[in-house]
Amino acid sequence: MKSFFVAAATLAAAIPLMPAYASASEAASQQAPAKVSEAKAAFDLAPLPYAVDALAPVIDSQTMTIHHGKHHRAYVDALNKAVAAEPALQGLSLEQLVANAGTYAPTVRNNAGGHWNHSFFWNSMISPSKTGAQSPELLAAITKGFGSMDAMKAAFKQAGTGRFGSGWVWLLVKPDGALAISSTPNQDNPLMDVAEVKGQPILGNDVWEHAYYLNYQNRRADYLDAWWQVVNWDKVSQRYGAAVTNHDKRQ
Ligand code: MN
Repeated sequence: MKSFFVAAATLAAAIPLMPAYASASEAASQQAPAKVSEAKAAFDLAPLPYAVDALAPVIDSQTMTIHHGKHHRAYVDALNKAVAAEPALQGLSLEQLVANAGTYAPTVRNNAGGHWNHSFFWNSMISPSKTGAQSPELLAAITKGFGSMDAMKAAFKQAGTGRFGSGWVWLLVKPDGALAISSTPNQDNPLMDVAEVKGQPILGNDVWEHAYYLNYQNRRADYLDAWWQVVNWDKVSQRYGAAVTNHDKRQ
């Protein structure tokens, strides 16, 4: 089972990097012949990389079921509809749509962001018993950037509670290689041309009310505190390593 979860997580993490045509052809290859005509949508909703109750009690199974199956599904469906209606968008990868989000209609920016952000979010989390640990390199970068792990978490919480309305909080690697924390409104993210703080996200938390309201109601700060119990540090460390390697290659 472990290898399945690793493979599923790796595949899901790779999806945002895959061009749309690869995603569509994969979907087609998994469909029965009679359903091939339904497999033309550019983007797919990947299954969660764990069971819906894997994050309980931090995030309950009903929240996970609705958040993934209804909210994330709606972003994917709306994105596919927008792409199908606009020939200039066809064949572009999710990453390309996100990178140039500010040049497209709001529906593309919102739903491409919604799809990318949620795919990234599911893979940022894992069962509380499997969270792993920060790599020595990541821990050193956090200490260098924020003073300590606790100080980083405090800054992350401040960004999350300070986001008015709906949005996201990110830990990201900036173009200069340094770590930063930022918050984006709605479904924006640091990869977008419109982001105030740009860079490669390595961890993100959803602070829309739909992410926590059933369990935490208006207590967003409590959700932000509890959420660290399900952060997949092995995954975040892996993302940090990749972001720094990519940064070094650009030097
Ligand atoms: Mn959400």
